[in-house]
Amino acid sequence: MGIDGATELYGIIGNPVAHSLSPAMHNAAFQALGLNKVYVAFPVADVAGAMTGLRALGVKGASVTIPHKQAVIPFLDAIDPVAARIGAVNTLVVEEGIIRGLNTDWVGANRALAEALPLAGKTILVLGAGGSARAIGFGLLEEGARVLLASRTPEKGRKLASELGIDWLPLAEAGRNPVDAVVNATSVGMAPAVDASPLPQAAFQKVPVVMDIVYSPLTTRLLREAREAGCQTVDGLAMLLYQGVAQFEAWTGLAAPVDVMREVLMKRFG
Ligand code: NAP
Repeated sequence: MGIDGATELYGIIGNPVAHSLSPAMHNAAFQALGLNKVYVAFPVADVAGAMTGLRALGVKGASVTIPHKQAVIPFLDAIDPVAARIGAVNTLVVEEGIIRGLNTDWVGANRALAEALPLAGKTILVLGAGGSARAIGFGLLEEGARVLLASRTPEKGRKLASELGIDWLPLAEAGRNPVDAVVNATSVGMAPAVDASPLPQAAFQKVPVVMDIVYSPLTTRLLREAREAGCQTVDGLAMLLYQGVAQFEAWTGLAAPVDVMREVLMKRFG
């Protein structure tokens, strides 16, 4: 469908955004459903100005990425309660000038992990204490899982664990006790340091499901070793895909063309 006077505009605000896969993924999804919508990248330094601009120009929705996921919050008209607890917003829905903030990172992580095991009542060890660990931790609690947190820097890890109301342990002790699943939300294993893994191999005896949110490379050392040990694995593309799926559905109210969106990501990472 060509761009015309009725085309609705969506985009991503962040800095930098030139390498984001979201434009390719969302435009492919809009086209697949024949929607007169287009999604572009907005490199943004001035968050206040950008939020005024979204309202003034009638932009219908936006993704928010680093470094603006917290900075947009004071400019919202409404915020989803889980996004408020996480303290980060990655999705804006704009309706009649009213901007609502959501967080679909946790939704994407939950949906990815739920393909491997039902989450309610399960004990899940989250590795890391950064932005993703925070969103995933709150999200898993939302789903009724029992969550443990392990990370490198004690003060930071303990602080997040206390906000989540869960136990913290040093990363070096992760994998010593049985859990139902581990989610790596550290950047360990990400290119170029692809030989690194956040867990020792011995841990895989005690963990049936291992998910890595690192997606570059798609098969991290953690996932390779987990597969070799017979664990079920979930790669980082699944979370990336499903956070986008949840955005698409929030913007359109339609079921997202998941296979089309997955294919765009697979072309880049598969
Ligand atoms: P972040 O806020 O910078 O947090 C990074 C975490 O990794 C921190 O807890 C840090 O430890 C830990 N870490 C880094 N190097 C470490 C090392 N050598 N040993 C132990 N821990 C280490 O980053 P983020 O935004 O949460 O992102 C984390 C990873 O997830 C990145 O690789 C990112 O690309 C990926 N990601 C994937 C998706 C997806 O959709 N699949 C979405 C978002 C992010 P400290 O606590 O000690 O600082």
